[in-house]
Amino acid sequence: MLTGAAGFIGSNLAHFLTSQDAYVVVYDKLTYAGNPASLEGIPCERMSFVKGDICDTELVYRTLCEYGIDAVFHLAAESHVDRSIDGPAAFIETNINGTFSMLTAARRYYESLDGERRSGFRFLHISTDEVYGSLGKTGYFTENTPYAPNSPYSASKASSDHLVRAWFHTYGLPVLTTNCSNNYGPRQFPEKLIPLIIHNALADKELPVYGDGKNIRDWLYVEDHCRALDTVMRLGVPGETYNVGGSCERQNIQIVKTICSILDELRPKAGGAKYEEQIKFVKDRPGHDRRYAIDASKIKRELGWQPQETFESGILKTIKWYLDNQQWIANILNGKYRCERLGLGGDEQ
Ligand code: NAD
Repeated sequence: MLTGAAGFIGSNLAHFLTSQDAYVVVYDKLTYAGNPASLEGIPCERMSFVKGDICDTELVYRTLCEYGIDAVFHLAAESHVDRSIDGPAAFIETNINGTFSMLTAARRYYESLDGERRSGFRFLHISTDEVYGSLGKTGYFTENTPYAPNSPYSASKASSDHLVRAWFHTYGLPVLTTNCSNNYGPRQFPEKLIPLIIHNALADKELPVYGDGKNIRDWLYVEDHCRALDTVMRLGVPGETYNVGGSCERQNIQIVKTICSILDELRPKAGGAKYEEQIKFVKDRPGHDRRYAIDASKIKRELGWQPQETFESGILKTIKWYLDNQQWIANILNGKYRCERLGLGGDEQ
């Protein structure tokens, strides 16, 4: 069962797992960030779709029972920092109460299992490196770094991490937690930096860069994250947390300039103009963390995971995907989703 798998990472995970012969049940409320079109291409015989809210404990429980779920990847969340600053309530509701609801349903279900089904059951909570706060010029986040969230988004994710930990220690639910750095790749909603810059560049709009553009993030290609999640699900030790990162630190302005120069090659502008000319520095986001960087040595050492893409190969694949899937972006921005295949009765807003 994959919660939030009509979103960015979840849909990539659904494609990845079904390509490895898994059967997945996607459970998603289809908020503005969820797009069933992101699941197109997955054979019907490998996937079921349940439209539901993770706060609906009964529906989560019924879904677990009906499909005889043996592993939960919990990705559903409100995920955009700027939105959490403008309207934190939805983040508290989905990220904290929703995770509480997931744990409640999963615990009831787990306690009804026996034998191998019980010993094999796992609940993997997908979290973020933002729970650790901001780094100075040096150092890395390890699994032992104290939590210091600075935005309503990261505070809500930190809360959910604590609940998941407590359900292991108090109730013995076999949980795992991953804290991952910034992802990029296909099917990301174009409000996040990389798809926003690609979309605006092609639409001849300004390319907004916060502050001085020197905030640093540690970027990971989404399929490498999916491989890490699959690895943790199969080999991770219940109760443990694993940091996941690509060791690809880049300043935001470097990212934007890289995208511009790749687009100059792949989709040159008329008259020799350069995409970089569209860059515009804008007022910084309040509480904007300066630097994130992950120490992923635990998952590498203990579980044998390694990222397969460099930033250079991943960003090229990503840009090519967006160039080839302009209609996907248009659909998601217009709120026009093709739902027929999933039996949802036409376009969803
Ligand atoms: P996303 O915003 O693209 O997708 C979120 C999905 O969750 C959407 O399909 C949405 O419809 C669904 N959803 C939201 N509220 C729901 C609810 N109440 N009930 C059911 N479904 C609901 O997010 P993403 O970028 O794919 O992130 C997925 C997870 O990974 C999140 O938990 C996020 O915190 C975590 N994460 C993301 C990144 C990143 O760089 N994107 C990095 C580390 C961790």
